[in-house]
Amino acid sequence: MDRRLFIDAAALERQPYLFEAAIRPSLLDLAEGWAAAGPAEVHGKAELLDSEGLRTIRIRGRLRVGVSHTCDRCLRDLKRDFDDSFQLYFYPMDTIEQGGEVAIGIDETEVGFYEDGGVHLVDVVGEQLLLWLPARSLCNPDCKGICQVCGSNRNIAACDCRETFADPRWEGLRHLSYKH
Ligand SMILES: [Zn+2]
Ligand SMILES: [Zn+2]
Repeated sequence: MDRRLFIDAAALERQPYLFEAAIRPSLLDLAEGWAAAGPAEVHGKAELLDSEGLRTIRIRGRLRVGVSHTCDRCLRDLKRDFDDSFQLYFYPMDTIEQGGEVAIGIDETEVGFYEDGGVHLVDVVGEQLLLWLPARSLCNPDCKGICQVCGSNRNIAACDCRETFADPRWEGLRHLSYKH
């Protein structure tokens, strides 16, 4: 893999690393249902915060990327663009495994881990996208989805199908009849 995309903790001891890269969509491994619609453009600065201590790598920069996905309910294709600054901290995995103290005052959602002496920019982008991507991907919070019976998109046309949903807890009540 491209060494220019690798942030080497040892090299950061001498000076911060300024990076600028466009990462191919095929390199990005996003959450299920999501894919990068084009290269992820990222630039910023990596620094070693405490070379004598934990060796935390702080990465601050800006990330611009378009992602595509489908609505969880109606399967419509959707695209979403992100363009914002970010800040992430990476702790060395081995220090954490040995019970090393994690710096306090850092938002844990902004924390990742690194192995093999550094962190790869591909992983930095992946980590930040995890924070940005919503847990559910819906075209609209009120999306009515696809009818399980006739397959029509209920956002476009209402259908008269009745979805029979047999809840086993009610099975025992089926024999009951009501007198009015
Ligand atoms: Zn939808
Ligand atoms: Zn229907």
